[in-house]
Amino acid sequence: MAGTGRMSETIKTDVLIIGAGPVGLFAVFELGLLDIKTHLVDILDKVGGQCAELYPEKPIYDIPGIPFITGHGLSDALMEQIKPFKPEFHLNEMVTSIENIGDPLYRVTTDGGKLFECKAIVIAAGGGSFQPKRPPINGIEPYENKSVHYAVRKMGNFRDKNLLIVGGGDSALDWTLNLAPIAKRLTLVHRRDDFRGAPDSVNKMRALVAKGAMDLKIGQVSELEGAEGKLSAVSIKGNDGAVARVEVDAMLPFFGLTMKLGPVANWGLKMEDELIEVDVSTFETNIPGIFAVGDINTYPGKLKLILSGFHEVALMAQKAHHYVHPEKKLVFQYTTSSTSLQKKLGVS
Ligand SMILES: Cc1cc2nc3c(=O)[nH]c(=O)nc-3n(C[C@H](O)[C@H](O)[C@H](O)COP(=O)(O)OP(=O)(O)OC[C@H]3O[C@@H](n4cnc5c(N)ncnc54)[C@H](O)[C@@H]3O)c2cc1C
Repeated sequence: MAGTGRMSETIKTDVLIIGAGPVGLFAVFELGLLDIKTHLVDILDKVGGQCAELYPEKPIYDIPGIPFITGHGLSDALMEQIKPFKPEFHLNEMVTSIENIGDPLYRVTTDGGKLFECKAIVIAAGGGSFQPKRPPINGIEPYENKSVHYAVRKMGNFRDKNLLIVGGGDSALDWTLNLAPIAKRLTLVHRRDDFRGAPDSVNKMRALVAKGAMDLKIGQVSELEGAEGKLSAVSIKGNDGAVARVEVDAMLPFFGLTMKLGPVANWGLKMEDELIEVDVSTFETNIPGIFAVGDINTYPGKLKLILSGFHEVALMAQKAHHYVHPEKKLVFQYTTSSTSLQKKLGVS
């Protein structure tokens, strides 16, 4: 999605991690043990990457030492594990550009106008950036980011507006419940009278409809009316063929997310089939100081498994240490026996 154009003060950190999926999160741990400070940027509004977005309730059975954990559970456990290192998160932000400004020093920019300076970069971008699916409505493009929005960045922008939310999943229902109290009038449109979202949200939405606090229409948006990116009304075609016209100031379609490689392709990295090539002893890319770990990288025998990413970040951290603390000698230590590591973890 387009950025806000705002530019903020430069945030300085040792390492910037692009992607807060399971591998990006565990990178915080391995880097933290080596006294390396991290900031993480993710386009999603939550951490956990695919685990949190695509299968939060599904069980994972192949995390070593954990016989069973859900996607959501794994994200929570990783967040708990990295707490001692106080990583800073910048969610709802997509990294758009990387620039080399020193030896080694990188400037990283997001679509929300954030600027970072760091000594090394860890790309843990998984299958790329999650991007909203565009609904099949003719002529929607000119309205996008003006009066058609695929995410709610600021609820206040929708106060006292006639809103149309489209979709039947959790996002559509959650935003219906959050925005109905502040909207002038809110209409939810879904193609059938059966919702995929949590039953509790469905019940709450139906209760609002029953007391006349919002409208529910079953059908599909068939036409948009407006000019210069500003919507004025939409037509909704019911399953019986009848067309209703609803006045709207803003439309919020929630049709799920799809993964696209996105800006990673433009960063001058050596790639093969949309994946970043790495040196398997360090997980460094062809650009010194830029690493790629997890699903986004490729090497002979690569398996897109969470445990592979966990292994990769341990090796990556050893090389990143050279860039962040070139003056310090790195001594290999175990967490079970090193009091210095235990101090960093806050357990001794
Ligand atoms: C249904 C399903 C079941 C699975 N089951 C298992 C299993 O049982 N065991 C197993 O080991 N693996 C499983 N996997 C695979 C596993 O989820 C992935 O290997 C893992 O998520 C990879 O982690 P990652 O951190 O590399 O990437 P991701 O989880 O993809 O996270 C990458 C993050 O980077 C962000 N990002 C990308 N580009 C940018 C950018 N430019 N700016 C900011 N942020 C960006 C994305 O928004 C995303 O949050 C499964 C996958 C799916 C889809």
